[in-house]
Amino acid sequence: MPYSPKIGDAIASLDTPSMIVDLDLMKSNLKKAMTQLLPTGKNIRPHLKTTKSAILAHKMVQAGAKGGCVAKLSEAEVMCRLGFTDLLITCEIVGAAKVQRLVELYKKHKSIRIVVDSAEGALAIDQALAAAGVPEPMPTLIDLDVGLRRTGVQPGFPALELARYVATLNHLKIVGVQGYEGHLQHVHGYEDRKRQCLESMWILTQTVNSLELHGHQIDVVTTGGTGTAEFCATVRRVTEVQPGSFLFMDTDYRNAVGAKYANSLTILATVISKQGSNVVTIDAGLKSLTTDSGLAECKTPGYTYGVLGDEHGTLTWEEGEAGKGKELRIGDRVEMVPSHIDPTINLHDVYYAHRNGVIEEIWPVDARGCVQ
Ligand code: PLP
Ligand code: MN
Repeated sequence: MPYSPKIGDAIASLDTPSMIVDLDLMKSNLKKAMTQLLPTGKNIRPHLKTTKSAILAHKMVQAGAKGGCVAKLSEAEVMCRLGFTDLLITCEIVGAAKVQRLVELYKKHKSIRIVVDSAEGALAIDQALAAAGVPEPMPTLIDLDVGLRRTGVQPGFPALELARYVATLNHLKIVGVQGYEGHLQHVHGYEDRKRQCLESMWILTQTVNSLELHGHQIDVVTTGGTGTAEFCATVRRVTEVQPGSFLFMDTDYRNAVGAKYANSLTILATVISKQGSNVVTIDAGLKSLTTDSGLAECKTPGYTYGVLGDEHGTLTWEEGEAGKGKELRIGDRVEMVPSHIDPTINLHDVYYAHRNGVIEEIWPVDARGCVQ
């Protein structure tokens, strides 16, 4: 029989490395986020760059979310094809090929929204829409730099200038402002994160106010991630928050925000070699677990992970110290908690979602590899 895991199979029967999700923990993360954020009256538009899954996007909507964000146009293409079309594309769309793809997508799905942070970028999209004869102006958000220094026009005069220019373009319609404070998501300490976030929200609010004073209609003010959404949602002028990682978490986020959300996703791996009395090799290396935000951790305490290369990692433990990690043997299986959830998910084809070790659902990572 060909290898083909099915619902009802035991996690123990999965080949490795496999990406597995503890359904109860994931659902509790979702419930916590909704319970905290929905009563604020803000829209919750989860960032789908994390899950890259239409099924999970739909589940979040069922739980109270309103649409989703995607980072990339190619993610939007996949989500639209799978019937999830209420999307904000949070990265600037620049370059002739991408602009053309955007126009094609927009022809079919008028519910997508974009962000712009430059006159050149806005003009290119406007011209492509004009050339394609698309009558409806594309809903556009001014992307504002609230301190991240990644994208976004500077607050104040530059933002006003850009909005004034975009308003002259017939094929774009300003509907709001995005001001994402990504640099603050992992600030350690609740109070510090809150204070810095509210400072960023002040910059955002000031710019929104002056845009309105200059006659722009700002219906959407969107911001926030897993580390800050609860603070952003207290700000009067914010209409929408965009957390992504909260559903699964990772060690980097856990270290910053604590145990508010559980680590609900792990990479199941197998011990394939023993290299010493207290060191084994597992079949999960750089192609299964990312390392940009530190190294993954073994879910069972007492073991330290190290990267050996593309396909391999080590787990070591302190010799002779009972309780610190029992001896691992060839064939043993371990669960690894990713250090950075989004790029880790992008390394895997499917999620195996289980309850108490029995697979209940299997979800494809639909937008895996969609980086364009
Ligand atoms: N919004 C934007 C624009 C982002 O780039 C990200 C993540 O990088 C998020 C929201 C979601 O953040 P998180 O996954 O940290 O919740
Ligand atoms: Mn990330």
